[in-house]
Amino acid sequence: MATKNKSVSELSGRNKKFYDLLMQYRDKVTDQMKYHVEDALSIDNNDKRGVTTHMADMGSDNSRHEMELSMLTEEGNVLQLIENALKRIIEGNYGKCQDCGEDIPEARLEVRPYAVYCVKCKTIREKNGGFNPNV
Ligand SMILES: [Zn+2]
Repeated sequence: MATKNKSVSELSGRNKKFYDLLMQYRDKVTDQMKYHVEDALSIDNNDKRGVTTHMADMGSDNSRHEMELSMLTEEGNVLQLIENALKRIIEGNYGKCQDCGEDIPEARLEVRPYAVYCVKCKTIREKNGGFNPNV
């Protein structure tokens, strides 16, 4: 086997296509995170200034804050998955299921370019609370 590591400019075909797609996703998620951080911070500032006086408003602000934070966590996780997928493209093992080593179908990668498992293994993990007993 020849050297596996490739530079981005050498990417072609499927790798190039998904590299570009992943970069688009990364920009999108980064923008969303910025928006949610700003929104979460503005809620904090309102609380500190005592702008929110009614209990009802405070309640809804708090749950909105919680929602922003959980979305941020999720976006952070997706961002990590995207970074990992970009790394796998460069290393030349992108698109392989991390559990069974089979190729992940391109149709699945088009929907989730940062997918780590094939549908079969993902289903097994979902049934077992994120754990695959076959691995
Ligand atoms: Zn698999």
